[in-house]
Amino acid sequence: MRYIIILIQIFIFSLFIFSVNANEIDDFSKQAGFIVEDLKGNFSLSNVELKFADVRDGSAEAKRYPFRGYVIVLDYSELENASDFELRGMMAHELGHLETYSRMSWLGLAGYALHYEFSSKFRKEVERETDMIVIQHGFGEELLAFREYRLRTGSEKDKKILGDYYLSLEEIKKLTENA
Ligand SMILES: [Zn+2]
Repeated sequence: MRYIIILIQIFIFSLFIFSVNANEIDDFSKQAGFIVEDLKGNFSLSNVELKFADVRDGSAEAKRYPFRGYVIVLDYSELENASDFELRGMMAHELGHLETYSRMSWLGLAGYALHYEFSSKFRKEVERETDMIVIQHGFGEELLAFREYRLRTGSEKDKKILGDYYLSLEEIKKLTENA
């Protein structure tokens, strides 16, 4: 009997944990939704959908699909502790990717995606150019804040990827001052 009571307690406790977590994701999803609605016009985009999933390399990913349109995939576990300002930097970077995709034909985009997947030199060009687009659109401070967040909270692998492919903090600061 004692064990059954303990099992029931564990069950109730796990329900509680699950519902707290679901509420947090819900709040985060609303916050991210406000940010994307606020920023998308700056990148000449009208419809952008948000989706939550694990992202293999990093914390977010921008995609364009033939029917679904523009989608930004967010990894909640990597982003949950970011401030509003930091999240704006993340979102601006992803919207920068989508703005680039929006100017391409489907064939062009397919070639671009393959090139990105298989050439680390090209990947570096793409990520650095996307950071520059963010700065040109006036979100350099937000981008800097987001990169500082990622360098503070990311894994060693995340930090290496940031160092290999993206603008450095110093570069972002300099370009933002001159923008
Ligand atoms: Zn990117």
